[in-house]
Amino acid sequence: MTPFTSDLDLLEQTVAVAKAAFDRGDGAFGAAVVLDGNVVSLEAVAIDSTLDPTAHGEVCAIRAACRNLGTTDLTGGVLYTSCEPCVMCASAAVWAGIRSVIYAAPIEAVTRYPVRDLFPSGTIDWSLLPLKRTFMPLDDAIELLSR
Ligand SMILES: [Zn+2]
Repeated sequence: MTPFTSDLDLLEQTVAVAKAAFDRGDGAFGAAVVLDGNVVSLEAVAIDSTLDPTAHGEVCAIRAACRNLGTTDLTGGVLYTSCEPCVMCASAAVWAGIRSVIYAAPIEAVTRYPVRDLFPSGTIDWSLLPLKRTFMPLDDAIELLSR
């Protein structure tokens, strides 16, 4: 765990781990969880490296946060992610008690994976989830998804 500094700094860290994951042959997504003023996890996608289609960056960050804190309850936590969450990750956040997500790239920026084929509407109907979303665009995050 490290002290939380700022939204921008942590979003940049999620992009950095996303780049590192991409460079080692995995996807290009990273995420972190903040709770009580601390960064309790910072993880990258691990689908290809673990052969787990549910190992999205956000799910990995939620799993690590729970392991690190010895709980399944992240109530009051905030999810930071390099890309707008998919429906699975948004749901995982809600199940963990997280009610706020801050992301650096819109899911529409993803070109390497069949997001548009799987979810033709392009994104989540956010009104269905008790999850406040905040988009803080970062050019590096958006560019990374188009590689
Ligand atoms: Zn996801």
